[in-house]
Amino acid sequence: MSLIKKKTCILGAAGVGKTSLVRRFVHSIFEDKYLSTIGVKIEKKSVMVEDTEVLLNIWDVAGEEEFFQIPKSYVTGAAGYFLVIDGTRTDTLENGLDLLHRVTDITGQLPWFSLLNKADLTDKWALDESAIARLHEARLKTFKTSALTGENVEESFQAIARAAIA
Ligand code: GDP
Repeated sequence: MSLIKKKTCILGAAGVGKTSLVRRFVHSIFEDKYLSTIGVKIEKKSVMVEDTEVLLNIWDVAGEEEFFQIPKSYVTGAAGYFLVIDGTRTDTLENGLDLLHRVTDITGQLPWFSLLNKADLTDKWALDESAIARLHEARLKTFKTSALTGENVEESFQAIARAAIA
């Protein structure tokens, strides 16, 4: 068995659920308490991909207005990126794609996964087929997730770990 360490970044507009998804994945909990992330937090968790243990260093980068001035050191050196979109707020898709292009300008083409989060909020769901098509055009693999129920959270991190060592 081998151990490989990989950096991954979770990016997206403020309030889309980045910290909640990481908390769900790393600590198996959901706290419905809004604490906007300031700066960057790094969490670690291992994922098994066949007989390789992939230790993910998950960089949770702040949203907010400083969004557009994410320091390069936050986003360089990662093997894969999550772009989190709040499925109930279409503006977070626009912001997210903008962010994706800005980061890709720095890093070049690397694996990205989009997480359409808050899938449990079905009554408020706002993303239609054309929105999803735009993500496919940007060559993003997409998961519909919920940090509240845990839907597809494990699967998303498994997929990024697999991509990170491919
Ligand atoms: P961040 O700014 O992107 O890190 O977002 P947070 O993780 O702080 O979440 C923002 C708000 O959305 C908080 O009130 C969370 O409880 C809530 N939230 C996050 N993920 C989900 C989800 O999957 N479902 C629901 N219903 N609420 C969520």
